[in-house]
Amino acid sequence: MNPIDVGILGATGVVGQQFVRLLENHPWFRVTWLAASERSAGKRYDELAWRLPSPLPAPVGALRVAPLDAIGDAPPLLFSALDSSVAGEAEVAFASAGRLVVSNARNHRMDPLVPLLIPEVNPDHLGLLDVQRRAHGGDWVNGGIVTNPNCATIVVAMVLAALRQFRPSRVMVTTLQALSGAGYPGVPSLDAVGNVIPYIGGGEEEKIETETLKLLGDFDGGSIRNAPFVVSATTTRVPVPDGHTAIMSIELAAKPSIDDVVAALDGFTSEPQARALPTAPPKPVIMHRGQDRPQPRLDAAIGNGMPVHCGRVRPCSILGYKLVALGHNVVRGAAGAALLNAELLAARGMSPASSGRRRTEDATPSVSRT
Ligand code: NAP
Repeated sequence: MNPIDVGILGATGVVGQQFVRLLENHPWFRVTWLAASERSAGKRYDELAWRLPSPLPAPVGALRVAPLDAIGDAPPLLFSALDSSVAGEAEVAFASAGRLVVSNARNHRMDPLVPLLIPEVNPDHLGLLDVQRRAHGGDWVNGGIVTNPNCATIVVAMVLAALRQFRPSRVMVTTLQALSGAGYPGVPSLDAVGNVIPYIGGGEEEKIETETLKLLGDFDGGSIRNAPFVVSATTTRVPVPDGHTAIMSIELAAKPSIDDVVAALDGFTSEPQARALPTAPPKPVIMHRGQDRPQPRLDAAIGNGMPVHCGRVRPCSILGYKLVALGHNVVRGAAGAALLNAELLAARGMSPASSGRRRTEDATPSVSRT
């Protein structure tokens, strides 16, 4: 297939740089446009600080960063890693101009017309994009907004999706969240080093409690009905570079055995795996048998950061079942999540058409890169 030209809003931040990394040599998408704040606009991307250990892809380094109001120059498909202070209005402006915005930001996640998507969990919710396009009309019918959840929510939702057949009814979750989740430059070092901060601002706990219910809700062709269970969350910041840990206690109405819970997590698979989407992990949930796993340092980057990890599944004397889960917050919780969303959109024929230009490496068949 011909490559689809894509742009990155907020290309200079923690998540934006991960987009640049993950999109290098992507079989379907080609980065042709970058935007960020007035601080970065007008500069070549390789004049700005690159903070990842892998080299900056040269073709992207040569691009000049655009300001957010250069809407007319933007390609048809945009990934958004904008700070939430500007993402809300900016994403609407791009969608109104016929761009499809696949966003990480929190601003539109709970909008009743916006799909909040994890391709393994609720691929059918993409049907809401058609409802959104009809509701807005105008150039929006060629674009729209699709979001991925908060970086800790995605870990919780993947676990609960794998256990959905056992009918979750109550969930308690405590997170230990990595520093990269706060963006750059993030948490001051004197606050973070050797410490646990028992509060994350910006409504982090509410995001886990509400987004999870939308993600596991039912789409009836017109709207989403939230899942009928309750989630209570406590979120903490810990001095870990990458990887959010979620310690979960879960009540399951069907009362399966522990072995059945482990088997359901281990065997979980969904549409991205069936379609072999380029960024889909072969196993969305990796079960760890050792009592000392999963660990952020050892496990978060496995499979290019796309699987969610699970371990220590055991009885809970209060809710019945408890476990430890882990996900790479900047990849599976952010840039990788949005990229997988865009791949599902493209595979279902819901993303803008390809540009018609072709490069030799684009002839490569789409195979899993993870
Ligand atoms: P970040 O490192 O602070 O990057 C923010 C980006 O937004 C930068 O590119 C910045 O451009 C741009 N920006 C800030 N103010 C702007 C303005 N007034 N106009 C235009 N652009 C502006 O943040 P991040 O961690 O990458 O997060 C990006 C988004 O993803 C946020 O909405 C965040 O909540 C969400 N998210 C983050 C994570 C994570 O683990 N980090 C996970 C899930 C979701 P300049 O460099 O030019 O200032």
